[in-house]
Amino acid sequence: SNSTPTSEVDVLIIGAGPAGFMMALWMSRLGIKTRIVDKRTDKVFSGQADGFQARTLEILDSFGIGERVWKESNHLIEVSFWNPDSNGVIKRNGRAPDNISGMSRFTEAVLHQGRMEAFFLDAIAASYPHPADPAGSPLKVERMVLPTSLEVDEAAAEDDDAHPVTVTLRHLTEDEATPTQRLSNLSDGLFRSNLADDDVGAMLAQSKGGADVWEEVVKAKYVVGCDGAHSWTRKALGPKYEMKGEMTDYVWGVMDIVPITDFRMCLPVQVLMTFAASNGSLMIIPRENRLIRMYIQLTEVSTGGRVDRSTITHEMIFKAAQKIISPYKLEYHYCDWWTAYQIGQRVGSHFSKCDRVFLAGDAVHTHSPKAGQGMNVSMSDAYNLGWKIGLVTKKIMPRKILSTYELERKQIANELIEFDHKFSRLFSGRPQKDILDETGVSMEEFSKAFNMSHMFTSGLGVNYSPSALVSKPPEEALLLESDKEVQNEGNPAAKSKLSAATNCKPGMRFPSYQVVEQADARPWTLHHKMASNGRFRLWVFGGDISQAAALKRVNALGARLEKGVLARAPRIELGPAANPFAGTARFRLDQPPSVVDVMLVHCAPRGEVELLRDLHAVYHPFDAKLGWDYDKVFADGESYTEGHGHAYEGYGVNPEKGAIVVVRPDGYVGLVTELGEENWGEVEKWFEGVLRMA
Ligand code: FAD
Repeated sequence: SNSTPTSEVDVLIIGAGPAGFMMALWMSRLGIKTRIVDKRTDKVFSGQADGFQARTLEILDSFGIGERVWKESNHLIEVSFWNPDSNGVIKRNGRAPDNISGMSRFTEAVLHQGRMEAFFLDAIAASYPHPADPAGSPLKVERMVLPTSLEVDEAAAEDDDAHPVTVTLRHLTEDEATPTQRLSNLSDGLFRSNLADDDVGAMLAQSKGGADVWEEVVKAKYVVGCDGAHSWTRKALGPKYEMKGEMTDYVWGVMDIVPITDFRMCLPVQVLMTFAASNGSLMIIPRENRLIRMYIQLTEVSTGGRVDRSTITHEMIFKAAQKIISPYKLEYHYCDWWTAYQIGQRVGSHFSKCDRVFLAGDAVHTHSPKAGQGMNVSMSDAYNLGWKIGLVTKKIMPRKILSTYELERKQIANELIEFDHKFSRLFSGRPQKDILDETGVSMEEFSKAFNMSHMFTSGLGVNYSPSALVSKPPEEALLLESDKEVQNEGNPAAKSKLSAATNCKPGMRFPSYQVVEQADARPWTLHHKMASNGRFRLWVFGGDISQAAALKRVNALGARLEKGVLARAPRIELGPAANPFAGTARFRLDQPPSVVDVMLVHCAPRGEVELLRDLHAVYHPFDAKLGWDYDKVFADGESYTEGHGHAYEGYGVNPEKGAIVVVRPDGYVGLVTELGEENWGEVEKWFEGVLRMA
């Protein structure tokens, strides 16, 4: 009707779970006009997902909140496997490290989702005021708001200035949006569970005609559906947007309790798994504040895919756990949270419509909780998408880059389901009785699979396919049929040059090794210098620049970059949190910097290099208000306080030859090449494929 208020926004996020919050954080860091809505009355306070993988902590750290999670969480260092012996009594028969040594500064850690959401809100608030959106106030979750219609004007999809997505939002009152369980029992997490009736329909029906209910129309450039496993957004995109995979759903009970038990699972046991033949399987994860989390697969309630929800109570879940753990006793006085949820292994057929509406998180993949991936993969989806939407909206990148979202994240979703499938069989399988028992799962098989799985479960093994953003030869085996058309510039010629930095693999995350800051001798690991602020990093491994020839080469590259990539690449405005030393209103760069950030790691003796005297200005850029930037040059050498980081060895760079490594704003390697002048054109070409160069 004529009275319906209509407004425009760059990005509308539907759903404020882990995926939605990650998306919101990116948007606030990039200064993009954004709204985020959620049907719920309030945030998660306890329970739900709780596992943080090493890669997720690295990502959070790039936004300045990794250390907070790290400090409050419990760290998972070791895993124990328990199995019934011949008398049916569970015994520990294996221990294994829970992480791959030396891969990351972080290990797996656990902290509940509610705490995480609080950190996100703080990080978002710290992003304002943003020079790209000076009038904008900190992004807030607009609660009790439900979309009721969504349309994409496909004809306008490729128009940079269009707002082709039209969404109607309905604002509810508190009563209408509050599920009854929420009022009765704080620890009862069933109301958020997918076992609960889909409440969207009920909420909408109930809200019809209410006096305080109102609707508005929002025209958005981009919409991101982060609305969980029952995604309304996915359904609104039409029947082509379906979830494919296993039809069976498993039901899992989850309880967070402080255990009282005679079972000595306390202390050195970090993660405990048991699988008992007749009683089902149980996974126990030690948590913060003496809590443990128990995952119990509920085999009894699932009959032919239909679940009788009324049979699921916390007593019933707890009894199942007690049965598995017997003859030991298990009781509790304090239960922090419990739930049950139903999960199949499925992946969405499409992750976007016209690269204008995107789906992220549980909205496009669901799987069991065993490998602790749900929150991590969901955040990583949004982490992959956020900077792409942000830089396209700012006209720094062309729209075609957006197709890499589906290419990259659908691959990961498929790998996740495949992994979950394999892992589930091992986890829920019957333990082997003896070596002649072929259908049983042996302890060796289980722990071998577990060890192999670390690259995957830590998130550090992610390896994106070739595209404009990832220059490498296509790895056929990794590609899905449907993705082949999207991937384009796979570059066979790049192969030989990859050996310039053997441990920087295009498509994988740039590793982090310790170096020493040239200017002030402080040791840093390089991830500390890679804040998520939308900038690409061009790492120059310049070799021993105390030698005249090496110094000359590095400076010639500097001159070339200054006239080439840096002169032609767009600039990016940085907000306070994206650039802590220069972001506040009183203390701001005179000119927004280039979206390409040049950094140098040399391996000369630090004392033989004089930063301002010896090196070209691109390695210490000057700003009219803030002077020299001393934070771009690092030495691979002995620090005064923390030893030698051996970064060249870590990155696989030959000190004689050097290397150039281009890293995307999300920390993934885009291009690896040799340092010599004959390769500089390749670097320019890579940026031409990715940025809107002048
Ligand atoms: P979600 O976290 O589901 O967030 C979706 C958000 O969208 C919600 O805030 C929801 O209110 C909102 N929303 C939904 N529909 C609409 C709509 N139409 N309009 C507006 N807003 C909407 N994983 C584990 O690893 N371990 C666990 O123990 C575990 N327990 C879980 C328990 C429950 C009850 C649930 C639901 C999930 C659990 N998961 C667990 C899964 C894990 O929480 C998810 O994988 C992860 O949260 C996915 O993040 P997401 O942002 O994609 O979706």
